[in-house]
Amino acid sequence: MVKIQKSFLNQPHVDIEMKDLTNLEKQKNILNKLKIYRKQDFSYKSGKILGSMCTQPHPIAKKAYMNFMETNLGDPALFPGSKKIEEKYIDFLKKILNAPKKSMGIIGSGGTEGNITAMWLAKKISDKNEIIVPENVHFSFEKIASMMNMKILTINLNDKYVVDIKNIKEKISEKTAAVVGIAGSTELGTVDDIYSLSKICKKNNIFLHVDAAFGGFVIPFLKKLGYRVNDFDFKLKGVDSVSLDAHKMGYSAIPLGTLVVRNKTISDSISVESHCVSTKKQVGILGTRSGGPVAAAYAVSEFLGENGYKNLVQKCMNVTDYAVKRIEDIGLNIIVKPTMNVIGIKLDNPSKVVKKLTDLKWKVNEMERISCIRLVLMPHVSKNTINSFIPDLKKVCKRLGEI
Ligand SMILES: *Cc1c(COP(=O)(O)O)cnc(C)c1O
Repeated sequence: MVKIQKSFLNQPHVDIEMKDLTNLEKQKNILNKLKIYRKQDFSYKSGKILGSMCTQPHPIAKKAYMNFMETNLGDPALFPGSKKIEEKYIDFLKKILNAPKKSMGIIGSGGTEGNITAMWLAKKISDKNEIIVPENVHFSFEKIASMMNMKILTINLNDKYVVDIKNIKEKISEKTAAVVGIAGSTELGTVDDIYSLSKICKKNNIFLHVDAAFGGFVIPFLKKLGYRVNDFDFKLKGVDSVSLDAHKMGYSAIPLGTLVVRNKTISDSISVESHCVSTKKQVGILGTRSGGPVAAAYAVSEFLGENGYKNLVQKCMNVTDYAVKRIEDIGLNIIVKPTMNVIGIKLDNPSKVVKKLTDLKWKVNEMERISCIRLVLMPHVSKNTINSFIPDLKKVCKRLGEI
């Protein structure tokens, strides 16, 4: 039982409420009810989730999360220790993104918020409202257009399923607020030619945002492993901001996304005076936010280190290569050779295949735009998972005439 102060007990209404608040029997009953709902969820452990970009977080994430759950990074004077963890985590991200000293990081809820914040910045500093994006851009840009009254100009992809650079130049005008490049697309894990985008944007003095929500925790480690992948980070001088999610390939808990911005001085344009809390100004979208996810992500980064992430990415790539081989062996085709741990399986009727696979309890996603189903080979997916998936995929595809 929680000890209740005498002065509290002298106030009769509080006394009743506090007793009620700590009633263990009642707590147990409610938690049991919640369990019933939780059982309806799919679990990563089941080995049936093949379409999610999230995964079972590393065990240390849960412990760190619980220890910091009630801390509030929106009021850092109350939680200076949590604030220090946040700074350390941002330093870690800057390092893996080759960000310069004068850069800064904003931690938020995910890739959607990272993109919104980046476009808010671009709009404020340019006072313009057009965004040039590849046609495979994440749907968060639809929200951005609606929320901030911005106009989205889409550029088609080339036969490698990355943005067609020559069409970008034509769309740039005096109305352009930003260009967006994708490093690890949601559909296929492809990486745009950010080097060329960087050159074009630098020349035209246009804000370049790189959406690396998924790829930000993959590409740096693929490079260390010797894979040939396009550059995407602050090494390229035209890149102004990069968003990346720790709750995807960062192996940590939801919600955690970040936006790293090359030039700290521009952050003033998205800050407001913050009365009632301990800071003078608050940058970014969120106010009150828990230190839990930040402590979790930091703990995972400390536990794994760059080497740990490298090994994790290697493991995911091994499973990806294995899956591609097994998929091709049963007579199906993939859309494009995977750049990272995402596979698109070409199908005539993906929605029917997904439906039949769902009946067999597999969770895979249909990518309507390119007539395929997508597998994301996250850390919870093993070769054994693939071994049990392939016979079901084969059976379903045979029945539907796909092979
Ligand atoms: C997942 C994803 C997002 C959105 O991130 P959330 O964390 O779901 O808000 C944005 N961009 C890309 C490329 C993504 O893969």
